[in-house]
Amino acid sequence: MEETAKTAIIGAGISGLCVAHALHESGQPCDILESADQAGGALRSFAQDGYLAEQGPNSIMIKDRRVMQLLESTGLKSTGIGSEVISSLPAAKKRYVVHDGAPRAMPTSPMALLKSPLFSLRGILRAATEPMIGRYRGEGEESFGHFVRRRLGSEILSNAAAPFVSGIYAGNPEELSVRHAFPRLWKLENEHRSLVLGAIALRSEQKKSPNPRMTPEMISFRSGMAALPQAIVAGLPTGTVHLKSQINAIRPLPDGWQISWTDASGHAFNTEYSRLVIATPHHRLGALPLPTEIIEQLKPVRTLDAPPVTSLVLGFKREDVEHPLDGFGMLIKADENSPLLGVLFSSSMFDHRAPEGHVTLTCMMGGSLSPELAENSDEVVLAELHRLLGVRGTPTFRYRSSWENAIPQYGLDYQEAVEALEACENSHTGLYFAGNYRGGISVPDCILNGLQLGKRLGTTEPDA
Ligand SMILES: Cc1cc2nc3c(=O)[nH]c(=O)nc-3n(C[C@H](O)[C@H](O)[C@H](O)COP(=O)(O)OP(=O)(O)OC[C@H]3O[C@@H](n4cnc5c(N)ncnc54)[C@H](O)[C@@H]3O)c2cc1C
Repeated sequence: MEETAKTAIIGAGISGLCVAHALHESGQPCDILESADQAGGALRSFAQDGYLAEQGPNSIMIKDRRVMQLLESTGLKSTGIGSEVISSLPAAKKRYVVHDGAPRAMPTSPMALLKSPLFSLRGILRAATEPMIGRYRGEGEESFGHFVRRRLGSEILSNAAAPFVSGIYAGNPEELSVRHAFPRLWKLENEHRSLVLGAIALRSEQKKSPNPRMTPEMISFRSGMAALPQAIVAGLPTGTVHLKSQINAIRPLPDGWQISWTDASGHAFNTEYSRLVIATPHHRLGALPLPTEIIEQLKPVRTLDAPPVTSLVLGFKREDVEHPLDGFGMLIKADENSPLLGVLFSSSMFDHRAPEGHVTLTCMMGGSLSPELAENSDEVVLAELHRLLGVRGTPTFRYRSSWENAIPQYGLDYQEAVEALEACENSHTGLYFAGNYRGGISVPDCILNGLQLGKRLGTTEPDA
């Protein structure tokens, strides 16, 4: 390579790409070295015969204007009908939880709550005592399960909060740290003593604020989630992203980093960079040719649990599914002993997911509580869909994706990972980490953290 880019980013997932996007906006060049044959990491979409299947995320919930600005600056969101950004359909507001062998709608009004088979009067009254419950006084890190049980009671935990956790983390509520996995809830208790009182206080602050927060919006893209990384790459200077590249050595220099790498056509390079951003998944950190002492330092990060998850996307003729599919999908409680974690009603969430007269269902299985179920056969899934949704007939479309280490769990010892990352960055000039193992696992969290890091690096001199 003729020119020496200032920053090397290893990994072109959404985190690494957002670092590059913000660097580019600050006028700073970078190289992104990606081992796969396409950018985007977990954001991969597959279209065939009018169906659209997502391998990883199906939607993103936008609560922060900076994410919307990214969509605008990449040209994905425009005001015309040509906008790639699509909003969720009105039906997606409704969510089901499987309880006593059938999908039950989550109540959205006080009357529906009282009538719902999901909650007993006793459970509702227990949850209503929340404002009277004090702050956590226990020793050590509190789990999400303990937090919800303590504040809202066990029924809310088992029939609402735990299925919700399996929908986000594919995780075990008793093993996730409330402080790290659900920092907003943790902060509400810490700052306002109660979730209800905190929510009321925040709402009144918002009303007075000159910059009120945006109303959360669930979106995807007409051609699928992969449109997002593709648009970010298109906005970077040509030649920034090096797909199918292999990193052979990473050496610290007095004023930066030297990376020996090979590109897709086998050409070898020795490039010097003043900064190195590592944006691979946490479970791939150990395989990078980093100095041994860094690999050792990163042990609490590398060893974060990340259970396997399989997503099986199935298409059916509309008349072969009895259930109205009038919702976002159904989450399945752990005590239902289902082979599934949950099912997204993909073609009810967004347009352009199934051909006319057909529907698409995205079935998730595996996760921390039952990792072995990630291996379920299609037949097991079809039998369960028949039981829960009255699905008959053979699928008109199938697409299976398996993630061996799907989502890093912010467990009870996660603080060690936070400290290890900070210590590693502080002891190695010009070394930075970005990825879903830090600051949030959702796509918007990865976007915001990546943009923030890129902006910081773009506006400061390399710390040689
Ligand atoms: C099944 C599933 C469903 C999900 N659903 C949702 C959802 O609906 N909404 C939501 O907000 N979030 C969802 N998530 C979470 C979200 O998609 C991820 O947390 C996020 O995309 C991670 O982005 P990342 O850039 O940090 O990592 P990744 O996407 O993992 O990207 C890391 C990149 O590094 C590359 N890499 C690895 N090793 C090397 C190497 N040695 N050299 C060079 N490159 C390397 C990889 O190929 C990859 O491109 C889901 C995740 C999964 C797995």
